[in-house]
Amino acid sequence: MFCTKCGADNNDNAEFCTSCGNSLKGGAPARSASNQTSTSLTKRDPIMVLIFTIITFGIYGIYWYVMTKLEMNESGADIPTAWLIILPIISIWWMWKFSEGVEQVTDGQMNGPIAFLLLFLLGGIGAAIIQSSLNKFAAD
Ligand SMILES: [Zn+2]
Repeated sequence: MFCTKCGADNNDNAEFCTSCGNSLKGGAPARSASNQTSTSLTKRDPIMVLIFTIITFGIYGIYWYVMTKLEMNESGADIPTAWLIILPIISIWWMWKFSEGVEQVTDGQMNGPIAFLLLFLLGGIGAAIIQSSLNKFAAD
């Protein structure tokens, strides 16, 4: 076997390299396991969320709801299908469920009822505020 350090050819059952003394056995591989909790949340620039929502007359806002809803559900939230957002009245209930999901994935840092009021009253601005809160839990 060849020494991993200096490349010298050694006897196959040698424990140490005869050339440099490097240990040839029990070379434990470095641990690659990390305790990183991975979320499915995507980082987005809150300002861009707001600007896109304005210049697309709210269409980006719907896209934002759909995408963040998928990401939050993958991160443990339980938000119903985003199609409900196109239905009157039911969309309000859906936004409430969405807001509950926000509270869940941000470990309560963004309060559900506050998230709901932000989205309901401020629209794109509320979405931008919630995005900045989600960014803290997004993977880099
Ligand atoms: Zn060696």
